[in-house]
Amino acid sequence: MRVLAIIAISTMSAGATPASARDWLVGDVARFEKMVPRLQPGDTIVLADGEWRDASLIFRGDGTAHRPITLTAQHPGRVVFTGKSSLKLAGRHLVVSNLVFRDGHAPGSDVIAFRTDAKHWAEHSRVTGIVIDRFNNPDRRREDHWIAIYGSDNSVDHSHFEGKKNAGAMMVVVRQKDMPLDNRLRIDHNYFGPRPPLGSNGGETIRIGTSTESGSDSHTIVEDNLFEECDGEVEIVSVKSGGNIVRRNLFLRSQGSVVLRHGSGNLVEDNVFLGQGVARTGGIRVINERQTIRNNYMEGLAGTDFTSAIAVMNGVPNSPVNRYMPVRWATIERNSLIGAARLTIGAGADAERSQPPRETRFAGNLITGAGGQDPLRLEADAGGGVAFAGNVLDAAGAATPGFTRRSIKLARAKNGLLYPVDPALGAVGVRRDLSHITREQVGVDWYAKPASRTVAFGEGPVIRIAPGQALASAKLGGVLELAPGEYPVTTPLVVRHPLTVRAVPPGSATLRQQDATLFQLEEGGSLALDGVVIDAAGAPNSAGNAVIRTSTRPMLGNYRILVTNARFEHLDGAPRFDVLATTPGTLAGDVTIRNSRFAEVSGAVLALTAETGKEGWYGAEQVTISGSQFDEVATIADMLRAGTDESTFGPRFTFSGSAVTGGGAIALSGVQETSIVGNRFRDATGIRIAHSVGSPHTLIRGNILERTPPPVVRELAYQGPPRAVIADNEKGL
Ligand code: CA
Repeated sequence: MRVLAIIAISTMSAGATPASARDWLVGDVARFEKMVPRLQPGDTIVLADGEWRDASLIFRGDGTAHRPITLTAQHPGRVVFTGKSSLKLAGRHLVVSNLVFRDGHAPGSDVIAFRTDAKHWAEHSRVTGIVIDRFNNPDRRREDHWIAIYGSDNSVDHSHFEGKKNAGAMMVVVRQKDMPLDNRLRIDHNYFGPRPPLGSNGGETIRIGTSTESGSDSHTIVEDNLFEECDGEVEIVSVKSGGNIVRRNLFLRSQGSVVLRHGSGNLVEDNVFLGQGVARTGGIRVINERQTIRNNYMEGLAGTDFTSAIAVMNGVPNSPVNRYMPVRWATIERNSLIGAARLTIGAGADAERSQPPRETRFAGNLITGAGGQDPLRLEADAGGGVAFAGNVLDAAGAATPGFTRRSIKLARAKNGLLYPVDPALGAVGVRRDLSHITREQVGVDWYAKPASRTVAFGEGPVIRIAPGQALASAKLGGVLELAPGEYPVTTPLVVRHPLTVRAVPPGSATLRQQDATLFQLEEGGSLALDGVVIDAAGAPNSAGNAVIRTSTRPMLGNYRILVTNARFEHLDGAPRFDVLATTPGTLAGDVTIRNSRFAEVSGAVLALTAETGKEGWYGAEQVTISGSQFDEVATIADMLRAGTDESTFGPRFTFSGSAVTGGGAIALSGVQETSIVGNRFRDATGIRIAHSVGSPHTLIRGNILERTPPPVVRELAYQGPPRAVIADNEKGL
């Protein structure tokens, strides 16, 4: 690292600045450490522009309200922490600004922590203008936080966060009994950018407290932030303390909800949720006592159940602190739910969560259903303890006291939000003066906010290959277009970028697999196979071969597999020959198979059982198979998601319009959404489903089950009959 002399930069306006205030420019960690003990109120320590690799800074000091001690960059955005880097601060009236963390990850549990050790934390301190961009531990299962806020009266503002992919809530407010519990933090004007589904619990973006201390008030304010395509898991903001305010935030196409998980007396108001019809976009989930939800605008939210636009949960009588305290004395008024897929009162009702909400007021809300459907669900007679009044609902359905069902004509106002045209509805739904934050008002102006980062299949250069030419495994990316003919492949093709392998015309090119693996996916890799024939007759006679195999090391990125118009043949020369074999620490964001044929497979087309722990990791978020044929395939899909945690949307499995002859087992354990519709099974092993997570949805309908045993559905945790719709299946001839 460069060594610069410590120099005092003259203060800008000598007249206004106390004579003792100094700016100190430092160029390496050793100089920084030497300077820190000498810092006086009003001083600024300036990090020299450049890369700070493997730098762990400890910033201590005591400033004053009028003369804080500042740590900043020589120029905003030009000080970049890489490698294993972190920053810890402790003291009073500290300001940290204009730093970037990229191309690395935290050496310990936090990137930035408002404490240096268990006894020293920060108060009245501010972290502002920080960028943390994909600063991820390469093992997605290793948990860390990007910002851990300890102490009291601290703030994180105007910062930019994007692309957290490993486990652990991105930003946590830590409240523990040897620190101030009434900690009055502010989280405002931040950009919380795109983040993919994690595939386990611990994918929250903000968590305020934990259940242990949730009986006390934090008085933290989360306001004027933008959450954009910020997925992770079911909770975007997880409130686990009392007396907090979540207001004026914009949630844009983000899967999950603001969840009042633990703690009472929280206020959620003036937020704007724009789901734009994206699946699993949610609003606000209400648990506990004295919660107020008002003047929130929600448009195009597609979430249901726990992720409904508004979900008021059933509670557990005499609930342990970490379960579900019943809802009581909630006020939910003047919210607008436009084109909502679902509004659920009594969500999660089951044998344990048997206490419906009580003494709750739900009034003056304006509601229209998505596609004219009725979004209102009162689960398990949960409406009895809720006073519904003056709500207006535009959807056909049964008369419900407290709701006027009528058509509502809407017009978009200058603020971009929809309001009823009829002046009689002027006092229903959100107020006219509601506005939402813009992209320009959050984060920093010197670091670009991302466009969508997903590279589509078929993008990039098209490389045409003819038989006899080697399939170079070095630069596989973009599109490989195979001319008709035979392609022997003797060593695995290593895929590190989105790659499409296409035969023109379809069915004319055959890849002859001659090694245990044909495609090896590594970090960054995704694979589309279109129109190709994979023939594995020449593969070695050893157990555990695979056409596609995920990395032996964990993969941070959620990879994708797309198989269309393809044929797979002779995968039976050795036992347990899979088409897709997966490894721990990897997650398929999407696996889609269409119009393809699989014949003689001794293992599984999709072997998704590598994760077996109770933490609830799993191998694929979404699997969709349609219009395909499986002949003498031992197993079509073997999927496992262990544990009972309810933090994820996946895994999901859809199988439709396909034909199965011989074998063709479908074994799903812990899958949350299953649809097996309109298939023909002949002499097949059958469908076995085990439910373990939350409230699964399983539909097995309109299949022909010829000389095939009926589907078996078991409940591993839920006390009661198996929850599945199994209907209109025929035995065939
Ligand atoms: Ca969670």
